[in-house]
Amino acid sequence: MFTIAQARRELDQGNVSAVELTRACLNRIKALDSKINSCLLIDEEGALAAAENADRRLRSGERGSLLGIPYLAKDLLMTKGLRTSAASKILENYIAPFDASVIVRLKDAGAVLLGKTNLDEFAHGSSTENSAFGPTLNPWDDKRVPGGSSGGSAAAVAAGLCLFALGTDTGGSIRQPASFCNLVGLKPTYGRVSRFGLLSMTSSTDTIGPLTRTVEDAAMVLSVISGNDKYDATTLKSEVPVYEEKIEKGIDGLRIGVVPAYFEGSLDPRIKETMLDTILNLKKAGAIITEIELPNNKYSVPVYYVITPSEVSSNLARFDGIGWGGTANGANDLQAFYKANRGQGFGPEAKRRIMLGTFALSAGYADAYYKKAQLVRENIKEDFKKAFSQVDIILTPTSPHPAFKIGAQSGDPLAMYLEDIYLAGASLAGLPAISVPAGFVNEERKDLPFGLQLIGASEREETVLYVARVVEKINNYFERQPVI
Ligand code: GLN
Repeated sequence: MFTIAQARRELDQGNVSAVELTRACLNRIKALDSKINSCLLIDEEGALAAAENADRRLRSGERGSLLGIPYLAKDLLMTKGLRTSAASKILENYIAPFDASVIVRLKDAGAVLLGKTNLDEFAHGSSTENSAFGPTLNPWDDKRVPGGSSGGSAAAVAAGLCLFALGTDTGGSIRQPASFCNLVGLKPTYGRVSRFGLLSMTSSTDTIGPLTRTVEDAAMVLSVISGNDKYDATTLKSEVPVYEEKIEKGIDGLRIGVVPAYFEGSLDPRIKETMLDTILNLKKAGAIITEIELPNNKYSVPVYYVITPSEVSSNLARFDGIGWGGTANGANDLQAFYKANRGQGFGPEAKRRIMLGTFALSAGYADAYYKKAQLVRENIKEDFKKAFSQVDIILTPTSPHPAFKIGAQSGDPLAMYLEDIYLAGASLAGLPAISVPAGFVNEERKDLPFGLQLIGASEREETVLYVARVVEKINNYFERQPVI
């Protein structure tokens, strides 16, 4: 399958049409998706109509970076007239009445929406096993998870079912699946991309970003979806660069921060060894490697798992079976009606988070849990601020290990929460971060990919991308694709 940049050239030269590209994706979805379950909905008719429209625009001489490029969107984003389920039973029959702002931007740019991808219910999870519609399987090894919560988006791009996919990242949900599927996954600065029309998980850390095969492709998508939006008061007002024009800057003299503690403990020794090699290569490319400390980052997982359930408990309160969601019947008073709808509609992880969050916010406990977590969050942010006065970028592992087996962690919520160990910090601090392919390990005769993470200072997506481009060029791992 083409990268976006390759498809762009072919489309512009008239060697391929948007309809042909779209049909190729639809055919691959039909042939392969039953093996990985990455898609929850395919809008064949809508996609072909959008592709015909893109071809008309191309024929009239119009050009645009995503004009005629087929993509999939995580099913947490509203898509007008199409079911938007959040992979939850409670929204099983919900048809979105409007498009999320990112979907509108992509539509205007002429990108072709093929359908919606699977996820952990309401984006709660790291494996896509929490979907009410069955887990997604990793295209590199179908006994393993693709990561989560944007696992459907990652698996679909890795399997070549689309040219890019939108994911959401609240505490790692773009970066970790990118790592497990040999993709580039970019979480923008909080507020860079409008959240309007995203079903909120944790309003203070939710972000939307691309999963792509290459850094250039990630830059191309980011340029289109970024920018101020009158429907989301938290969006940034600053100018959005054309990111893809800035990725070949190189890293001569760039200061890269490395946290020694991150290379100890639970990190897979094979990943560690490869990453140390990569760091040497970056040094050869001109970077200055500096050891830094993020002393409060060890609290990022506990802080994250107090703050996010708190926001989840309030964000999911709206799904009461009246205004939103639910199909239960047989209840004869209001309490029973709520109980039936929410009891049957939410899966076990959503319920766990609602309970944790309600507890952390309740009178008498809010000071001890929620407020304390917010104070420690400030310390985590301060650590990053200090670090970015010494370095331009921070390099860490994305995940301590490659993709794990289906079922291996689903019975142990704490083990699953520790998936976010390198990821939650940037989310709590609202910083841009990327996972870029960094190697493979072999397990049971399967090659399993892993990525490394680059965290930038606020609004420095540009730096994140051009450093990622240097990492990408070391081995061009993106050229390797799974055999399904
Ligand atoms: N693994 C994290 C969680 O379960 C990340 C979720 C996300 O980023 N949406 O909360």
